Amino acid sequence: MPERQSSDRPLSARRRRTRDQVLAILAEHGGGMTRSGLSRATGLSASAISDCVASLRKSGLIVEAEADLGRVSGRGRRATVISLAGDDGIVVGIDLGHAHVTAAVARTDGVILDRRTELLDVDHHPGPVLDAAAALVRACVRDSGHGMDEVLAIAAGIPGPLDIRTQVVRSPTILSDWVGLAPAEEFARRLGHPVTVGNDADMGAHGERTYGAARGLDDFLYVKASHGIGAGVVLGGRTYRGATGIAGEIGHTQLPDAADWCRCGSRGCLETVVSISTVRRRLAHVLASRASGPEEESGLPPLAGLGHDPAAARVLADAGRTVGRVLADLVNCLNPAALVLGGELGAAGEPFAAGIRESVARYAQPASARAAEVITGGLGADAEVRGAVATAVETVRTHRAGTAAARRRTVVSRSGHGIPPSPD
Ligand SMILES: [Zn+2]
Repeated sequence: MPERQSSDRPLSARRRRTRDQVLAILAEHGGGMTRSGLSRATGLSASAISDCVASLRKSGLIVEAEADLGRVSGRGRRATVISLAGDDGIVVGIDLGHAHVTAAVARTDGVILDRRTELLDVDHHPGPVLDAAAALVRACVRDSGHGMDEVLAIAAGIPGPLDIRTQVVRSPTILSDWVGLAPAEEFARRLGHPVTVGNDADMGAHGERTYGAARGLDDFLYVKASHGIGAGVVLGGRTYRGATGIAGEIGHTQLPDAADWCRCGSRGCLETVVSISTVRRRLAHVLASRASGPEEESGLPPLAGLGHDPAAARVLADAGRTVGRVLADLVNCLNPAALVLGGELGAAGEPFAAGIRESVARYAQPASARAAEVITGGLGADAEVRGAVATAVETVRTHRAGTAAARRRTVVSRSGHGIPPSPD
C-alpha cells in the first residue's frame, strides 16, 4: 500500500495513533468495514472514527463505497463500507473433480464474480488438465473485469490425496497418473502466482463450514459422493488430514457383499457399488420403463428432481443406505455433530439422505447416531470451489494480519509504547 502523507498540517501524535490503529484493523479484517464496525473494533468513539476516516480519505489511503451487506449477511441491507485503497484485489478458487474443472473468481469478502466449468477426464491426463484449469482461471479473471496482476491469492482442490509433508501426490492407487506430481508447483508455473492445494473433500468441508450448511459446526464429516466418494473430516474446528494427508478416503472401504474390481486394485470397495455413474445407470434403467422416461443415463434430469418418482427414490435411498453403512462406523468412532452430504449424489437430497439416516440409526450406537444430524449441503456442486475461494481469502487475511503486526511493531518503535485503546 502506498504511504502517502496528507498535505494538511502535521498530525498530532494522538491522531497519528488513531490513524495507524484504523489502518491496522482494516488490514487485519481483509474486507470492507462499516464505521460502526470500526468503532467497535477500535474502541474509538463515532466522532473519532469519522474524523479519522475523513483524514485517511483525503490522504488516499482508504476508499468508501456503498455495499450490499445482504449478500454477506442475508439481510438485504445496504451500507457504506470502508476499505484500504488498493484493497480491491480478487482471489481465485479452483476445483478439480474426477470429471470436471471449475474455476471461480471472487472478491476478498467471498462474493463470486465469475465461475466456469469444463468437463474433462481429470484422472488420466494431469498435464492437459492443469493447462485447461489455468486457461479457465485466466478466462474467468478476464470476464470478471480484472487482470491477473490483481489476483491476491489462489487455492485449488484435487480429487485425491496429497502428501501433506511434501505437497506431492503419493497414493499410487487413487490418482495414479498424478503420482510424483506437485500440483501446487504445476499451478504456480502456469499461473505465475503461488497456489495453495488441498484435497477436494477437505475443500468441500471448508466451503460448507464457511458459507453453507456446516456454519458453526466444529465436528462434522462432509461426504463428497460423486464419481468417487471421499470425506472431509473436521474435528475440534480443524480439518483432520491424518499423518500424511490421506484421511477420509472412505470410498475404498470394503463392503462384505461386493466383489467388483475397483480402480484402486481391490475388490468390493464402496465406490464400485455407489458412485454417480452406477447410480445414474440404475436410474436410467428404472425410468426407461416409464412411457416418457429417459432410455439413456445422459437423458436423466438432475438427481434433485427425481425424488418424487417412487422407483427413482428407492434407487437413491438404497445408495444412501450403502454409504450410510460405512458412515455408521465413522459415527461410532468420531461422534460428529453432523454428516453434511455433498457431490452430485448428495445434491439428490432427501431420498439419499434418508437412506444414510436409516443405516446410521441401525448400525451406529444409539447415542452417537442421535448426535449426528444428516443434512444435505447448502452449496450443492459449488461446495468445493467455494471452499477453495474461502482458503484463498484466508491466505489474504493471514498475509494482511502479518502486515498489520509489522505495522504495529513500527508504531511501537516509533512512539516508544503500544497503541492505547483510549478514545481520541
Ligand atoms: Zn477401491
